[in-house]
Amino acid sequence: MSVIAFIGLGNMGIGMATNLVRAGHDVRALDILPDAVARAVAAGCVGAKNAGDAVAPADVVITMLPAGRHVELVYGDVADGVFEHAGPGTLCIDCSTVDVATARKVISGAEARGLSMIDAPVSGGVAGAAAGTLTFMCGGPTGAFERAKPCLEIMGGNVFHAGKAGNGQVAKICNNMLLGIHMIGTCEAFNLAEKLGLDAQTFYDISSTASGQNWSMTSYCPTPGPVESAPSNRDYQAGFTAAMMLKDLRLARDAASGVRAATPLGTQSEIIYSQMEAAGRDDLDFSGVMKLINESL
Ligand code: NAD
Repeated sequence: MSVIAFIGLGNMGIGMATNLVRAGHDVRALDILPDAVARAVAAGCVGAKNAGDAVAPADVVITMLPAGRHVELVYGDVADGVFEHAGPGTLCIDCSTVDVATARKVISGAEARGLSMIDAPVSGGVAGAAAGTLTFMCGGPTGAFERAKPCLEIMGGNVFHAGKAGNGQVAKICNNMLLGIHMIGTCEAFNLAEKLGLDAQTFYDISSTASGQNWSMTSYCPTPGPVESAPSNRDYQAGFTAAMMLKDLRLARDAASGVRAATPLGTQSEIIYSQMEAAGRDDLDFSGVMKLINESL
């Protein structure tokens, strides 16, 4: 059994922390929202009052925070940060989705203080966090990755080492940029087929076994009907929100401009998801971009 400080008990963190408790770990829960800590305590965590309370006794620190600025703040930017309280050799695992530069900066800050750290963003969403079936994409030294693996395997089915610090974030944003692109393309194809008189199910039956086949079509079909579990059958209730997709597309754009990589379709996808934001519909599942393509937003 390890003592694990878990910081950020939101939609994702609560499921992940609960699975660590179920596996027998002593989980110290910290969040700026008292309700989030209360939910974690109800799930078997020990509520922490501050960073010292959570981190000082911990062998492992896991963070699941909204964005890069929160990660910088929680680890090191403030007097009461993780770095101030973590004992020598503590393993830090940041599972938040953040920009590559921040991930690398925080990891080198940890190493300068004698701590081990990896970035380990996830895919699999809230359902995967609750079920313990997340995919982890990890960046950082092999030794730190190997230490983190048993813990990550409690929370996820697939745990990948993507290489050096920040490479987990690289894998995550490149994957999600591709996902945004093929989701929009799939919406366009279904919309066009239907407007030309070909019904969605027939187009699905053909295209899902032809060269247009892709994950957005066969696992998450953005038009109601063909894939029963898809959010399109629940009026695009998220799932993975359009706001989250837009966040990841913006991270991809920033990362691409930093290395002068051309991502014209990534940029176009960002513009399209920004229109969902402007319409106040970014709380829909990201497959709800179908409504925008249908001009029904
Ligand atoms: P969330 O907003 O529900 O949870 C974040 C939690 O962090 C909140 O409870 C918030 O109060 C807490 N927090 C913020 N600042 C803090 C601080 N300074 N100290 C302590 N706690 C603080 O977000 P989420 O949906 O759980 O997502 C978390 C991360 O996972 C994000 O980076 C997101 O991009 C990524 N992610 C989310 C999904 C998803 O489907 N929700 C899927 C994959 C990845």
